[in-house]
Amino acid sequence: MIQPAHKTIFAVGAHPDDVEFGCGGILLKEAEKGTRIHILVCSKGESGTNGSAEERVAESEEAAKMLGAELRFIDLGGDGKIEATKNNALLIAQVVREVRPQIVLAPTDSSNQHPDHVAISNLVRDASRMARYGGIDTLAAHEAHEIEAFYQFAITPSAEFGALPDILVDISDVHDKWLKLMQCHQTQLQTRNYLELQESRARVWGLQCGLEFAQGLYSNDPLVTSEVSDLPPTARVF
Ligand SMILES: [Zn+2]
Repeated sequence: MIQPAHKTIFAVGAHPDDVEFGCGGILLKEAEKGTRIHILVCSKGESGTNGSAEERVAESEEAAKMLGAELRFIDLGGDGKIEATKNNALLIAQVVREVRPQIVLAPTDSSNQHPDHVAISNLVRDASRMARYGGIDTLAAHEAHEIEAFYQFAITPSAEFGALPDILVDISDVHDKWLKLMQCHQTQLQTRNYLELQESRARVWGLQCGLEFAQGLYSNDPLVTSEVSDLPPTARVF
């Protein structure tokens, strides 16, 4: 099979701000090198304390523009009502087949956070798996597709704040732009300082590996290499 010149990252959030807050710095780095970025938002954030659905969709559109990313919304039952059902996984699997990404990103699945994040994490993992099964009749409109990697990103402070992720990505040089990217979601900055939370986490994780700022990814499966000497250096945590 011919490999595309640039890879595609498929980043999925339950709510309009999830992707930019959880892995926006990582996506900015990828956008700079020409990686195609496709963001799927699985609700319009209409159940949040601040911001109407219209405002939040507009904020997502502004952020996607800054990233140079493709953006689409999907209705899986509404904000606060997303359930990890087989049908919802098939709906996302259909998008996976259309977008045909190599790398898939979704929120972490730890239970101590917004239940929509947990549901989306499990749905995207299952959808990535089902996208490659050739015999699923409800997905037959698009050719089966096999992704290369599924990683999770942290959104909330709860379980993941202290624990180091499997992969740390140096986002020091896009730090200022990442703050601007998160500020696209103005309605979400009104009640709690989500932006400062993400920046603090990136600073703490950066300090753990000798960088100014780092965003992290958790790998769903072991990373595979044929040459251990080709692997990047590990964090020097003493
Ligand atoms: Zn969220």
